[in-house]
Amino acid sequence: MTMHDADTLRHLHPAAILAWAVETFRGRVAMTISFGGPGVVLAHLLSRIDQTVPVIFLDTGLLFEETYAFRQRFAERYGLHVVDVRPAEDPGPLYETDPDRCCTIRKVDPMARALGDYDAWVSAIRRDQGESRRDVEVVEQHEVDGRPLLKVHPLAHWDRATVWRYIVEHEIPYHPLLDRGYTSLGCWPCTRRTHAGEGERAGRWSGRAKTECGLHTFTARASAPATTSLTEARP
Ligand code: SF4
Repeated sequence: MTMHDADTLRHLHPAAILAWAVETFRGRVAMTISFGGPGVVLAHLLSRIDQTVPVIFLDTGLLFEETYAFRQRFAERYGLHVVDVRPAEDPGPLYETDPDRCCTIRKVDPMARALGDYDAWVSAIRRDQGESRRDVEVVEQHEVDGRPLLKVHPLAHWDRATVWRYIVEHEIPYHPLLDRGYTSLGCWPCTRRTHAGEGERAGRWSGRAKTECGLHTFTARASAPATTSLTEARP
């Protein structure tokens, strides 16, 4: 599989979309994963396609102990090439007074540096995760500092029930706190348990207007959708 346009990709199974991204951008594609939600589906799929693709794990320094332990177990079980990325400085409890700045220092800046080595970025975000993600496409052409970056979201059109059905059917391990009232795990100071009927990410930055850390908004989406042959993105 080498040639697809965005419309074709939109209708493929996530495994096929992922395989396309790995093959098309071989050596220039990375996946990011938090290990804090059902996005482990994507890591599981990747392990069946190519275990050498870098899986970037953003260690903000404020993750739950269970997250670090689970990251270790999952990576070993599936033979993933996990790359730990950390912030350049420790801003302390900045999350109490300026969470946007805290996210910039602990998440966005280190991720932007890490992604500088790649032309394609695969992540597990989905449309049904909340209002801020409802327009997410399977492939999106973005720019970072004037450099093109293709964002690939193989799970964009899967809903929460479908993702969890896949996890159960394939007996994929998931974060232990997801069985203890949490539905999405981030940094411990900014994550709470969710209640029945709340959205998957309702427990993130609860009580604040903030809904995104900036990781999925710091790149500039190109005005024209990627509708032509995406392999043209190759240099
Ligand atoms: S999620 Fe909270 S603690 Fe983590 S980087 Fe953002 S503001 Fe800071």
